[in-house]
Amino acid sequence: MTSERPLLEVNGLKKHFPIFGGILGQETAKVYAVDGVSFTIDRGETLSLVGESGCGKSTVGKSILRLYPVTDGEVYLAGDRIDNLPAGRLRPLRRRVQVVFQDPFSSLNPRMKVRDILAEPLINFGIVRGGRALTERVELLMDKVQLPRDAIGRFPHEFSGGQRQRIGIARALAPGADLIICDEAVSALDVSVKAQIINLLVDLQDEFGMALLFISHDLAIVEHLTHRVAVMYLGKIVELADRRTLFAKSHHPYTRALLSAVPVPDPTAKRQRIILTGDVPSPINPPSGCRFHTRCPFVFDRCRVEEPLLRSVGEGHVSACHLDHVPGGQVVPMAG
Ligand code: SF4
Repeated sequence: MTSERPLLEVNGLKKHFPIFGGILGQETAKVYAVDGVSFTIDRGETLSLVGESGCGKSTVGKSILRLYPVTDGEVYLAGDRIDNLPAGRLRPLRRRVQVVFQDPFSSLNPRMKVRDILAEPLINFGIVRGGRALTERVELLMDKVQLPRDAIGRFPHEFSGGQRQRIGIARALAPGADLIICDEAVSALDVSVKAQIINLLVDLQDEFGMALLFISHDLAIVEHLTHRVAVMYLGKIVELADRRTLFAKSHHPYTRALLSAVPVPDPTAKRQRIILTGDVPSPINPPSGCRFHTRCPFVFDRCRVEEPLLRSVGEGHVSACHLDHVPGGQVVPMAG
């Protein structure tokens, strides 16, 4: 029944955090962290969720993982609804959806040896019981993330940042997840180590076929591993396209501004830098109309009053902007 559906379907996801204040401690405002986000991920696909810090991308990941209860919307995994699962029925979800966080040092228990860190999910999910089979499985995971087998007796602090992230990836691989959410998983690493971890993720995806939701503030990083990219701004997706289209023919002014900051490998190539002025507005009181209008270099009257909805601007390419794209890189107002 479910084989034709995408692995992950997120429909109209909202996550609002109440703010309490006053003498009675009543709700005085809301943080509209995620405000109506929809996307799908197919089996074996990588979708990158990109945007500045505070845009809600990590909250999307944590809502899918059920680390936060969702405010509204629906999330399906292989056709099964998971956003409303009672707490006692989350176990299968925990096995099928794993996460790799930004800071491996704080996400790995410093008092556990690597052997125990990797054995824990294998035992908890009943994959192996113990004994030699467990050790073999742990050693195999070490092989897969290119760490030496004899390091399983060490503690996390005895590894470098990149090696710790490899341990985090091995732990996520252990239960045979269908989807791994990488939440700024390479952001804290040096440039060369970042590239190694990204190459490792690509190789592991080729071998095991899991899907990745790759959450990052850096478009330059995702270019090398993603199939599609969704750009978020202030709680909403403003553009979504396959990688090639997004990097070559982006439509939304915000995406263009992000892309203009991506370094170009060819030193003779010129790219006009678009500098966004001002800070990202508060998600407590987002701007009317287009949420990007306070910073958009192309803003016009309609943008301040009418919210642009995501609409098709090409095959598999949607953008939430009142402007139409003109080949050659210019942007002009749409009729109507
Ligand atoms: Fe800019 Fe208007 Fe498009 Fe929003 S709708 S991105 S303000 S041009």
